[in-house]
Amino acid sequence: MVGAGVVGTTTAFELTLDGHQVTVFERRSTVAEEASFASGAIVAAGWTAPWRQPERSLRWPWTSRPGGMQLHGLPSLGEWGWLSRWRKAGLGERQAEQHRQIHQLVRYSQERLLSLTESQSLEHDRSEGMLVLLRSAREAEQARPALQQMKDLGIGFREHDATQARAMEPALNAETPLHGAVELMGEAVANCREFALSIRAEAQRLGCEFEFNTAVESIESRGANAIDLRLKASGSAPSQLAHTPDSPQRFDAVVVCAGVHSVALLQSLGLRLPLQGVQAHSLSAAIREPLDAPLSAVFDTRHGVSIARLGQRIRVAGGNDFGGTPGQASKDTLRRLYGVLADWFPGAVRLAGPRGSVQEWQGLQATLPDGPPVLGASRVPGVWLNIGHGAAGWSMACGSARALADRLAGRDADIAITGCSPQRFGL
Ligand SMILES: Cc1cc2nc3c(=O)[nH]c(=O)nc-3n(C[C@H](O)[C@H](O)[C@H](O)COP(=O)(O)OP(=O)(O)OC[C@H]3O[C@@H](n4cnc5c(N)ncnc54)[C@H](O)[C@@H]3O)c2cc1C
Repeated sequence: MVGAGVVGTTTAFELTLDGHQVTVFERRSTVAEEASFASGAIVAAGWTAPWRQPERSLRWPWTSRPGGMQLHGLPSLGEWGWLSRWRKAGLGERQAEQHRQIHQLVRYSQERLLSLTESQSLEHDRSEGMLVLLRSAREAEQARPALQQMKDLGIGFREHDATQARAMEPALNAETPLHGAVELMGEAVANCREFALSIRAEAQRLGCEFEFNTAVESIESRGANAIDLRLKASGSAPSQLAHTPDSPQRFDAVVVCAGVHSVALLQSLGLRLPLQGVQAHSLSAAIREPLDAPLSAVFDTRHGVSIARLGQRIRVAGGNDFGGTPGQASKDTLRRLYGVLADWFPGAVRLAGPRGSVQEWQGLQATLPDGPPVLGASRVPGVWLNIGHGAAGWSMACGSARALADRLAGRDADIAITGCSPQRFGL
């Protein structure tokens, strides 16, 4: 396997559980060091719904309107092509179909996350139920089609007026106008990195091997049950590479879970994945006064920002930044996260002063133009894919992993995943 983000780690666990002999190669020194590091904490079924219309719009660097994809500079020709596909996929019946697939995968994943947490007694910060906040009557109206689709799919939710919503999250700022809220049920908040660390330990207990500080340089298919991986030591820590880098290691199959870095790996196999790295940001801070903090989580649909309680900390996450400088945070997006936190929970964390400490972070979400990930066998024998979960990879990780393991064993997955087929991109 390539990659030990939350998607790779859960996939390694499921495959090991099924009795496969699994080795995970990860170029970093431990699991969940890239997009899965300080990701938002939302895993509720329904949170990925298209709350606003149009769901997908572009924002130029000089506009300050919330929502949509924020462009940083002029996209290249290839990037324009991708953005145009991304926008079109957010319209009409295609949009409805994609959301149906995503909802089903998130709900299945939510169930799998809960059952693993309970059956393996996994320790991670989590809570049930969350509120999707609708600031105005217009926003409530725009959310109608999304709610109808959730109803059709049997995804549980309750609608509340502002008074009921404020009673459920008593620390919501009384000064900020609120029209109403949608309550999403079941597991809603969970700590992605903590979960990845726990499930890695479980996978190791079952016999899965992790080789950290080891990058997969190339994948070569030599026919049925013969996949060669060329490896290279990476990072400053000593590599666990147990063989000479020039001689490839042979496996029956490989599952690629390398997030945004999957593109280059697959290209040499002739698999062209239309994946883009879209930057999102998060803030993590210790709670100053528990009474001023959320009990579970809220999602602000106007700004696309979530605020979740993780034990004694708060995690605020959001942003859709396209074409920014890799590794460099967007000041505008961070400002928006601070602004939304101040709007809803102004006294929850200490931002300044001797005991004030906020961790600002940004990561790249591996995003496909339509929405669902690519999940399953590629057309190259022995090469399997679990990539491109975009802004909801944590919410889909456990379900995607189980579905991939079922398919690899030749079984039907518990849910239909035709909308996640790699073949839709000719892969
Ligand atoms: C700010 C932010 C907030 C988010 N909020 C939420 C949220 O609330 N809910 C939600 O569901 N999702 C959220 N997401 C999305 C979610 O975090 C990601 O979709 C998910 O973490 C992707 O996991 P992954 O394992 O696919 O990728 P990654 O975590 O990026 O893992 C890929 C791994 O592959 C390794 N790798 C790459 N190339 C190689 C190679 N050649 N050899 C060896 N190893 C390699 C990398 O080092 C990395 O560890 C958020 C993301 C961000 C950035």
